[in-house]
Amino acid sequence: MKYTKALVVGNWKLNPGTSIEAKSLALAIKKHVAKYKETQVVVAPPFLFIPDVARNLTKTEVKLGAQDAHFEERGACTGEVSPVMLATFGVTYVIVGHSERRALGETNKQVNLKIQTILKRKQTPIVCIGEKVRDSQGLFFNEIEEQVRSLAEKLTPVMLSRIVIAYEPIWAIGTGATATAEDVKEMQLFIVSVLTKIYERKVAAKVHLIYGGSVKSSNALELYQEGGMNGFLVGGASLQAKEFAAIVAMTLPKEAKK
Ligand code: PEP
Repeated sequence: MKYTKALVVGNWKLNPGTSIEAKSLALAIKKHVAKYKETQVVVAPPFLFIPDVARNLTKTEVKLGAQDAHFEERGACTGEVSPVMLATFGVTYVIVGHSERRALGETNKQVNLKIQTILKRKQTPIVCIGEKVRDSQGLFFNEIEEQVRSLAEKLTPVMLSRIVIAYEPIWAIGTGATATAEDVKEMQLFIVSVLTKIYERKVAAKVHLIYGGSVKSSNALELYQEGGMNGFLVGGASLQAKEFAAIVAMTLPKEAKK
């Protein structure tokens, strides 16, 4: 069920190579999505490019995101960036628990702490979950359940309503292999059913879910219309402004496409 505005987030990862390129990508995205006001668009550049990108995202509905943040607000955390610092540059969305961060050691517990700190700063955490592989017995659902239960720890119903959960099967990230719309729909129902064990049904059913994993303009419409999730986290395709905007267009309500 789609309750709120769709959300499409561009995760630029370790791209582009220079600040000049980052600024021109931001400007191109701003131009190409300008008329798509019914979907919330977010770009998440590398930390160093955030100030420049922020200056190029004035007079637009496009919001600024970060690819990670530490769970401490300040202190002895060498090399880290906190949600407070990000807020000073206008960052309102923060991705946490991305599989590429988890591969470097980020744990479910740390993801949960990050969510709490980000919410405290009134930013929106985009919490990534996803299975490494799919087995025919469906054991991967246990992995998802563990991630969902852990992210929800200490989160009140109001806090849950302020987060976005990005279902990103790891086998589909950057591989060109996408989950089918059926897979996505099944996972939407499963995540809500896990949350229903923790929260009231109406609270669980309203959680904002998005899908990520090799989303392109060619598969976005089917995934969006039949997958039951309300938006996308886009990696590779978010580096081409026109392609990214075409994905955004697939999430518009029918009336807005006219
Ligand atoms: C991602 O990194 O979150 C992602 C979904 O990447 P891609 O779209 O390239 O699969």
